[in-house]
Amino acid sequence: MNTLEALSKSYVGRFAPSPTGPLHVGSLVAAMASYVDALAHNGRWLLRIEDVDAARCSLESERIIRAQLDAYGFAQQGEVLRQSERALTYDRALRTLIEGGHIYACRCTRKTLESAPKNSDGETIYPGTCRHANIALNAPHTALRLNTASAPPITFVDREFGEATQQLATEIGDFVVRRSDGVYAYQLAVVVDDAEQGVTHVVRGADLLGNTARQVFLQQALDVATPRYLHVPIVRNHSGEKLSKQTRAAPISVEPHDVLPTLHIAWRHLKPDAVIDARSIGEFWQRATELWLSGGQFSD
Ligand code: GLU
Repeated sequence: MNTLEALSKSYVGRFAPSPTGPLHVGSLVAAMASYVDALAHNGRWLLRIEDVDAARCSLESERIIRAQLDAYGFAQQGEVLRQSERALTYDRALRTLIEGGHIYACRCTRKTLESAPKNSDGETIYPGTCRHANIALNAPHTALRLNTASAPPITFVDREFGEATQQLATEIGDFVVRRSDGVYAYQLAVVVDDAEQGVTHVVRGADLLGNTARQVFLQQALDVATPRYLHVPIVRNHSGEKLSKQTRAAPISVEPHDVLPTLHIAWRHLKPDAVIDARSIGEFWQRATELWLSGGQFSD
């Protein structure tokens, strides 16, 4: 059995959109990369709806995203997991972290953190204000945080960007795992779900590269496996901003005559040197699967 054959026996990938709006070309690129990587490894590809923050998500957006994925020929396997239904599972993971002595309650507010330093991604580096305040976990608080004071430097290898190391305590600070309103943070939910779904390969946009060390640290604290990571270049608009709902990126059209051209646009962003000129959606995915690992790019 060669390496690719051995890997395909166990490969599990996923696409995990947050239903805060329809998919745009940027999210299509992330979906495409994760899907084609799974196809190229003869693996399974799962869909997970990351609606943990109910206030920002809507069923309507979820419906639109799923219709878009269908129109573009994505075919997920297994059940679609929805984070809004998984509070009990996250509670269990939180208990494990509490028992491991990793969690403390924090009373800081956005206002009190205004003057805290920021990292290169523009995120506030939590200065550890409440780390030794001994606030009872059931007393009023603004957030539960993960103590990173004794975290070793976290190193992981990304299939595109190579080796990366982050010192969480100084570059991120103790990060939030649950807000006072009971909403679990993306970092915790994504780690618990990737582990429970047996995800072996995470493929997503490079905007999430800076989150990966936090997730690896959580995986270590929860004693679950670390998947392989591949972050693919994000799509920017003419002003250089990442396409997103905030930058008013246009939804991808599901009009039948728009689908194939849009698939080609997304592909050219990922692999400009591997030309595809497909006449049907089926042919597109077939060619994409054949060409994905060509030229040594994205190989593992
Ligand atoms: N839900 C996240 C997003 O839509 C993606 C999470 C992930 O792929 O890890 O940006």
